[in-house]
Order: sequence, then structure tokens, then C-alpha cells
Amino acid sequence: MATKRDYYEVLGVDKNASDAEIKSAFRKKAKQFHPDLNKDDPSAAEKFKEAQEAYEVLSDEAKRKMYDQYGHAGVGGGAAGGPGGYSGGFNASDFDFGDIFDTIFGAGGGGFGGFSGFGGNSSSSRASRGSDVLMRMDLDFEEAIYGCEKKFSLDVVEECDECHGNGGFDREECKTCHGSGTITSQQQTILGAFMSRTTCPDCNGKGVTYKRKCSECNGKGRIKKKKNLTINIPAGIASGDRQRLSGKGNPGANGGPNGDLYIEFVVDEHDYFERENDDIYLEVPLTLTEAILGCKKTIPTLYGNVKVNVAPGTDSGDKERIKGKGVDNKFHRHKGDMYIVFKVDLPKKLNREQKSLIEKLANTDMDTEATKDFQKFVRKND
Ligand SMILES: [Zn+2]
Ligand SMILES: [Zn+2]
Repeated sequence: MATKRDYYEVLGVDKNASDAEIKSAFRKKAKQFHPDLNKDDPSAAEKFKEAQEAYEVLSDEAKRKMYDQYGHAGVGGGAAGGPGGYSGGFNASDFDFGDIFDTIFGAGGGGFGGFSGFGGNSSSSRASRGSDVLMRMDLDFEEAIYGCEKKFSLDVVEECDECHGNGGFDREECKTCHGSGTITSQQQTILGAFMSRTTCPDCNGKGVTYKRKCSECNGKGRIKKKKNLTINIPAGIASGDRQRLSGKGNPGANGGPNGDLYIEFVVDEHDYFERENDDIYLEVPLTLTEAILGCKKTIPTLYGNVKVNVAPGTDSGDKERIKGKGVDNKFHRHKGDMYIVFKVDLPKKLNREQKSLIEKLANTDMDTEATKDFQKFVRKND
């Protein structure tokens, strides 16, 4: 997938743009790139969709916040392949698009094909599933290895309890459209006169209105809440693993089900243990004499210290496997091993006594097969 453009850039607004500026920028772009106005330009449809997607996110306070914080991945549409994308589609009732396009093209007969949920009269009353939400969660190395319980809060938009999402009380048939949700009228446009059907502005196409507006949600039918959630994280989670909380995403429209919440983990690194999938690597420094003479060494593992015999003549880079001491991954049902990698750490300075002892050692025959072979090669090369 190609890299996604920044949503602000797509709409040509700056990061602090107000809702009104975003709305107006989208109107302009939408008019400019509407496929029906750009029949000779195949790239217009893409640009139109791009603007539509940018608007969908930036016009929604919660999504915009996620986007500002996490980029495309935060709103489930990232180049990294966000889950689900915008399954909710464009909710026509959020935006009175009808007034531009319905007038010019006539939504009933016009060609908005291919853009589901957009501009059609039925979209505002059709049930649709809420979009998925992706959030990142930071974990300590240990939390990821051993599993943990995490509490976190999330800004969610939920159906208003007070009015059950209706936005008001005392339901009645819309007087403007007599319950049909649309208004038919003859339009005089640059393209000539024709009948056009527009979404009723008083009921947003729902066909019903409410006598008393709900004060809890100010008639919107939805309110933003801070929701406290708890997640049980199984042992062995790694960076990039995702856990799904079913139904904890954005609310559906018109009785549609909620989307899901995906949590993607970012695991901190450890100062000593290095994780590679479910294996753990640990570099173990040895002194010169430990390496030459061999020793018994206490080695830290994820499950406490263990004693390991280091063979005489152990060299830098020599590896030893400690079976079963890697990550006990309950998420992927796999158990890793631990590898210790030795590193002989030579002293940079010796005191007088050490120096004289090493010099004595140097006077003995310290040659190995490799050093002898090398000397032969040097002589031959002369
Ligand atoms: Zn109406
Ligand atoms: Zn309400």
C-alpha cells in the first residue's frame, strides 16, 4: 500500500484548523474532485475518496485526537494496515452535503455510485456497524514477559442513555417531509431544470422529529464519555501484537453494532535481556582468567538465577543454550529458550604484579593450532 498522505495536507488546512475550517476545506475539495465533475480525470475519484476519508477523521473529535497522537494507525486506516478501516462509511447526517450535490445533481437520480453511505437518502437511517479503533499501549519488558492486568481509559462516543440515541423525546412525524425523509422540488440549475430530491434538512432524512430536544446530549443522540477499561494481557506479548476488545470500538449508527477496539502493544527493551521472538539472549562478560581457566558462573534468567559451568578456553562469541528459559508465550502458545553469549572483557590496564605475571605467561608457549597455522601462512607469503 502506498504511503498515506497526512489528512491535514489532504484537506489543505493546518493542524489547528477549526471544525468550520475543516468542513469548508472539505466542501471545496469535494466539489473540486467529485467524480461526476471530473469524468476525464481518473485520479479524481481517488482524490475524492482521500478527502472524504480525511474529513471523516478530522471532523470527529475523538478520531482527530487519535490521529493527532498516533497518525494513520491511530484511526485504523494506517499504511500499517489498520483493522477494519472505515467500515462505518460516511454518515450523511453528520454533514449536510445534500445541499451542494443534491441540488446540482439530484441525489435520487444522480450518480453517487461507488461511494456507499454517501449522499444517498437511505444512508442516514440504515444501520451500520461502528468503525474499529486502534490504540497503542506501552508495556514494560517484564509486563510483557509475565503478563499483567492493565487499566486504561478511553474517550468513547456512546449512545446517550437519556434519549436512547434519538436526541429528543416525544417523537412525531416530520412536518417538513411528512415522514418521507426527502423533499422533492424542481430545480433550476446551470444544467437546466429538473426535479431533484434532497434529504430533508429538518429530520436529516429520518422522517421523524422530536418535540423536546434532549439536553443531556444537546440533541445529538451521542455523548462522549471517558470509559475505564481493564485488559488482561497474557504472558509473552511482543511489540506489534494486537489484542481485540470486541464491541469496544466506535458505536454503530441506527442500531448497528459497535466496532472493535484493537490494542497494539509497544514493549520496552530490557537493559540486559534481549528478546528475539520467544528466545532470550544475554551477553555474559568473562574476565581473562575466567575465560582461560573456566569457571562456575551465576547467570540471571527470566525465572531467577541459575549456575552455569563455563568451559576452560571459552571465547568471545561462544554461545550456550539454556533450554526452556526463554519466554513462556501464552499468547502464541510457544516456549522459547535462553542463549548466553560470552564476551571476554580484557582489562585495559594492568597493575605491576599483573603485568609481570602475564609477561611470565607470555614466555611460555601459548601458541594454538590457529596461531601456528597463521605463522606458516605469514612465512609462505614472504
Ligand atoms: Zn423531514
Ligand atoms: Zn440524549
